[in-house]
Amino acid sequence: MAERLECLETNRRLFIQASSHELKNPITSIKGITSLIHMKLNAGKPVSDIIRMVEILEKEVDRLSKLLIEILEAFMTERNGMVLKTSFRKINITEVIQNVLKPLMAAESGYNFIFKTGGEDNIYILADPDRIGDVMRNLYNNAMKYSPRGSDIITRVQLLKDSVQVSVEDRGIGIPEDQTDRIFDSFYRGSNIRGNDPGGMGLGLYICREIVKKHGGSIWAENNADGGSKFYIKLPLCKEV
Ligand code: ADP
Repeated sequence: MAERLECLETNRRLFIQASSHELKNPITSIKGITSLIHMKLNAGKPVSDIIRMVEILEKEVDRLSKLLIEILEAFMTERNGMVLKTSFRKINITEVIQNVLKPLMAAESGYNFIFKTGGEDNIYILADPDRIGDVMRNLYNNAMKYSPRGSDIITRVQLLKDSVQVSVEDRGIGIPEDQTDRIFDSFYRGSNIRGNDPGGMGLGLYICREIVKKHGGSIWAENNADGGSKFYIKLPLCKEV
């Protein structure tokens, strides 16, 4: 009994920490877009420019409310543990990636990261677009957090025999070779952040791994030969035609 209670308490703590981590992303995005709108209004930019930003803002606010509802639901049903409610459907992976990139590029435009994308379009998987979006957003946030401003962040979508492989490559600080697996553990933070810690709780990659696992896929990290790191996710293709 004592062991079970301790386990529940650990799950509850993990749940609260994971939720607050997930809430941080849309809030950062909303903050960025709001100041951008302010700047554009001050600079007398055309209304069409501002309407586009407001549309992105609306989407981010929607995402934030969805997350809040999930958290409330999880508490109300006393479902203590990771929030991993999934709703699977046939989705185009490139579309999900583009939707994640759009607000990021707008909100972070002050940092001038160069987002490059390549590979194949029209690859379909059976997945929850919100959850896969969460994975991509986490990978991009890390790439921006651990790389010099203005550097390239490259996404590639590759069709394999019965899966799709997505990679996110950066030109940042890289990962210590002996920690490329451990960084996916909960609350684990690499020794590469010492001395210049941009802040974090070591939960982002753990959440990514849980989501990818729930989709029957895998996630891993490697270092680039010429610096920076490269994260991969591999997800099974949608079988139905
Ligand atoms: P956090 O960023 O909050 O520490 P994460 O779970 O997202 O938590 O990442 C775990 C650790 O993995 C980080 O502390 C960092 O050491 C390493 N890491 C993650 N992404 C990158 C990256 N793009 N480049 C270098 N190191 C990274």
